[in-house]
Parts: sequence; C-alpha cells; structure tokens
Amino acid sequence: MKLFKCQQCGQLLYFENTHCERCGRRLGFFPGNMELLTLSTEDNHTFTNILQKEERYRYCQNAQHTACNWLVNVSDHNSYCLACMLNKTVPDLSNPDHIVGWRKLENAKHRLVYTLLQLGLPLSAKNRAPDHGLAFDFLAEHDPQKRIIMGHAEGLITINLAEADEVKRVSAREELGEPYRTLVGHFRHEVGHYYWDRIIKDDGQRQLAFRKIFGDERNDYGQALQRYYDKGAPVDWQKDYVSAYATAHPWEDWAETWAHYFHIMDTLETAYSFGLRINPVAASKVEMLAAEYRENPFVVRNFQQLIDLWFPLTAAINSLNRSMGQPDFYPFVVSPTVIEKLNFVHTLVLEVRSATFTQMQEAQSSTLASD
Ligand SMILES: [Zn+2]
Ligand SMILES: [Zn+2]
Ligand SMILES: [Zn+2]
Repeated sequence: MKLFKCQQCGQLLYFENTHCERCGRRLGFFPGNMELLTLSTEDNHTFTNILQKEERYRYCQNAQHTACNWLVNVSDHNSYCLACMLNKTVPDLSNPDHIVGWRKLENAKHRLVYTLLQLGLPLSAKNRAPDHGLAFDFLAEHDPQKRIIMGHAEGLITINLAEADEVKRVSAREELGEPYRTLVGHFRHEVGHYYWDRIIKDDGQRQLAFRKIFGDERNDYGQALQRYYDKGAPVDWQKDYVSAYATAHPWEDWAETWAHYFHIMDTLETAYSFGLRINPVAASKVEMLAAEYRENPFVVRNFQQLIDLWFPLTAAINSLNRSMGQPDFYPFVVSPTVIEKLNFVHTLVLEVRSATFTQMQEAQSSTLASD
C-alpha cells in the first residue's frame, strides 16, 4: 500500500484517513488517479481537490456510515464508488454490532480493490456485467443451525460477518490449525477463485499451463474437500504448498497462492513507500539479507527480483514482531515449488494487465473515431 501526503500541509496520510490530522482538511481516495485527495468544500455534498479545481467530486454513499472514504466524480450517475458498487448485500445496519463488523469488512474489501487496480486486473460489477462481473454478499448469521459458508460462486463472493469479530476469527484459526487468518486474506483468497474463472477457465492454453503446475482441477471438488477435512494435509505439504489448505484441491491451491501473491505485492509496496533499507551487520554475504526497496513492485517484471526483496523483509519484520512479543508476521515457508507457482500468478497477471490495457486503448480510440 502507498503512503499518501496531505496536499495542503504535507502531513503523512494513510489510505483510510478521512481528515488530515494536522490541518483538518477533508480527504478522499479517488481511484481514477489512485490518490488520496485533499479537498475543499464546494457545497454540502460536492468537493474539489485543492490543487485541481476543475474536477468536482462527492463521497461515495457509504461514507455516511463511515464505511468508505472513496470519491465519485459528480458527472458519474453512480452514488457508490468503484469498490462499493460491488456490494450486493450488506448486513442489516440498524443493528449497531453489524455496522462495526461491516466497517471492518469494507476496510479489507477496499484494500483488495486497491490492489486489483494497482495490478491492472479487469474489474467490473456484477450488476452491470451479470455474466462476468464481481459482487459481494456480506451476510450475518441469524440461526446457528444455518451456518454461512464463505466462498465464491459465479462471480458472487460470500463473506460471513462473524469473520470481522476478532475473537471468533482467532478461535476459528486455532480450531483449523491455521497460522494465518485475516480478513484481507479471505478477500484475496476468494477473489482468486473469481479470477480463475475469468482468466483461466475459458482459455485452453492457460488451462494446460495451470494443470502442469497446480494439478488437474477436474478432480471432484466436493470429494477432495471432504478428504481434506477428514484426513488433513500430508505431513510434508510445505514442500509443494503455501498452506495446508492449499493441498485440498488445485482450485484451493491456486486461491491460496493468488492470495499469497497479493500479500507479497502489497507489503513490498509498503516497504517501497517507506523507503526501507535492510542491511543487517551480523549477516554474512551468503545469507543475502541486505535489500533496498527502491522500486515500485508493480512495475517489476522479473519475479525472482521480487522474491529476493521479499525474504529479507520477512526476516526483519518477524524479528521486530518477536521483539514486541508478537507472533511472527510471516508464518510461512516458501519452497522452490511455491515460488514457481507464485511466478505463474505473476506472469499471468502481467499478461492480463497488458491485454486489459490494450483493450482500454482500443475502446478509447474507437470512441474517438466515432465522435
Ligand atoms: Zn493537512
Ligand atoms: Zn464506497
Ligand atoms: Zn477457496
């Protein structure tokens, strides 16, 4: 994630900020240029950027619930921003507990959408593109007999509101023996299933390449999951998989690897934004723990270059966490096979990004031609 700066006073800002702590100016994130804009008020509902007065914006409708700080261009007839447009169902907001949980889900979802945009992946809302769009159902459990199962089906991602409850999430983590379980992790995993459908399912060549690395996804999914829940992962799973759950089925392996790729890219972007440099005096040259985060990871094509930056960072942050008595920030072992899988995701994302870019250019030039 980027770091932002107040355009009025220079204060350092974070993605979720709605006001500058120092000068009090209102702020809003505009996905059109991926910037957190410092705003001046035009009237009750419209704002302009203090540096660029031509464009006028309003806040997304979910700003009224303190669930979104994104901006919409006033010329846009949508009342919701690019991220909130994806919501099909939100919990009943007359329940104060629901609002608190839902805000946490929104926080994670906005971070997800940010990374999707940074990666240049195609993104459309299901209400506009019913056949290939994306939508979210955020559901609260009312009846303990009717559990809400999180998952993805044909563009619709279901998230259980209970996952926003830290205590419940930690107890689920312990119960399932997972070292890592976060809200943003759920979103990244589920959207991985969505993009599998969107970029691999109907492309014969990609499908073959996928099967070579992840295995045959035509194996019965229901049976595979049942087997995983009955018997667990093979003891030596770390040799080939990023998580125990990834062993359940090639689709789950893909979604876990995809999510992991997002963890790496977002965290490397943060390291880059802070201008980090790691140079442990105790490390020998052999350990290769020195690294400088001078390049935006989203422009790096060579995945090995990203991995070379990734390991020193995880070693440093794990050590910092231990100093604070916290569990490891990065409780994963990444084997060469897993790096190969991550590289497959990276290569595919770059390929899709350049295709999306070309399509956009073509669409623009055909609009110009018809004007
Ligand atoms: Zn300021
Ligand atoms: Zn919004
Ligand atoms: Zn899954």
